[in-house]
Amino acid sequence: MKASFGKREEALSNSVSKSTHKMLANLWEKKDIPEEGWPEHMVERLLSWLASHDTNNRVDSISIGAGEREGRVASPLVRRLHCNLSHGVGRSGSLDEIQPKAIGSSMLACLANEFALHSLHVAGISTCKAAIVVPLCTGMSLSLCMTSFRKQRPNAKYVVWSRIDQKSCFKSIYHAGFKPIIVDLVRERDALVTDVQSIARILEERGKQVVCVMTTTSCFAPRSPDNLPAIARICAEHGVPHLVNNAYGVQSEHCCRLINEASTSGRLDAFVQSLDKNFQVPVGGAIIAARKQSVINSIAKTYPGRASLVPARDLVLTLLHTGKRGFIQSLEQQKRLFNFVRRKLESFANHIGECVYEVETNEISLAMTLGTIPVEKQTLFGSILFNRGITGARVIPANVKTITLEGCEFQNFGSHTDEKHGGYLNMACGVGMTEVEIDELFNRLPLAYSSFMKELHKDDRCSCNNLQDDDSI
Ligand SMILES: *Cc1c(COP(=O)(O)O)cnc(C)c1O
Repeated sequence: MKASFGKREEALSNSVSKSTHKMLANLWEKKDIPEEGWPEHMVERLLSWLASHDTNNRVDSISIGAGEREGRVASPLVRRLHCNLSHGVGRSGSLDEIQPKAIGSSMLACLANEFALHSLHVAGISTCKAAIVVPLCTGMSLSLCMTSFRKQRPNAKYVVWSRIDQKSCFKSIYHAGFKPIIVDLVRERDALVTDVQSIARILEERGKQVVCVMTTTSCFAPRSPDNLPAIARICAEHGVPHLVNNAYGVQSEHCCRLINEASTSGRLDAFVQSLDKNFQVPVGGAIIAARKQSVINSIAKTYPGRASLVPARDLVLTLLHTGKRGFIQSLEQQKRLFNFVRRKLESFANHIGECVYEVETNEISLAMTLGTIPVEKQTLFGSILFNRGITGARVIPANVKTITLEGCEFQNFGSHTDEKHGGYLNMACGVGMTEVEIDELFNRLPLAYSSFMKELHKDDRCSCNNLQDDDSI
């Protein structure tokens, strides 16, 4: 057997080893998302190559761990889940510092930050110059940004917040130790838009007490993305930082355009986007991005301690799998399918005597009126949709209760406004949604609606109440 391998096989083996290594080395040299996705075995090769740089995995030397953090993992399953990468990222000094014991983990974290920046450029945010992947979701990342802004503005107490009814971004203000100045939205035909004048007035009167203005791009209709360029100009005028919650805005051309415009025409210090909502990875991470590297460095330094590498790793693995091409395709598909969902919803609405709110700038979420359903039954309709396996479609009933969050009262929480409305149904077409899912959605939705209405009318006739309003879902 041994004898059957000759010079030719040897040459082939050498060339295979060389080209494999070249692929890894090239990636590390360029630190860009490759044009085409990599086969899975190459992605695995990269992981084990990187892991082999960490001291506890070295084969060229045996190191004796004489510290309290040596990347020890007791469970073989856990070790496998983490592909032998157990050191995490960062050091106590900063999230972006290299850990000398864990060169491989540090390389992977570095690749993740570069990929994050590259992906934002690919999505169209060309003004962005620096990005960092943090193992925190969007709300906590917003909090981290505010905490880092405190250093420049030690006496500031408030965050001016253009209202969006999403609890984590509201709570992020309190978590960072600030109080919100809530600015209600104004109605412009169907849409809810930023009250630019009120924000300008607040900054004029008490700009010095304000740590930052927080605006939001991606949101549920009929709220539209905030007017970032206008707010950026006001922030520049008053020297107040501007933080943007771009939770799932990477997939919307309009949100990306707003960020570019605001960055060039005024002040936009940092913007945050969720990893799971934009990149189809498990929940757990976000990208904080900025026009200035110094802003990102300051945020990385504010983070107390070391952190999990998992969100960074998953972003790199995902973008290596899709390649730049696949990532662009997922954005293009979202755009195409959103229009498809809108047309389908409009035609369904038309059929049942409802209408879809016109919010041109919202390219992800849709809202359809529910005027044909009695107010007290609207919540029930929402839970019936959920029970039929339609997740994510949410009913905002007309009689929504007032809630208290961190001591602040919100009327009509969920609808972004104190204004009365007739109740509506929200749905979103996010990145990753497929045509098959949409077809099924529009199979189930009309069925659910018509059987619900039938029950309702039967109910009217015999006044037996089989329809219990159920808030528990
Ligand atoms: C998802 C989301 C957030 C943040 O939620 P996290 O769980 O902290 O990621 C904030 N604002 C909006 C509009 C969101 O959609």
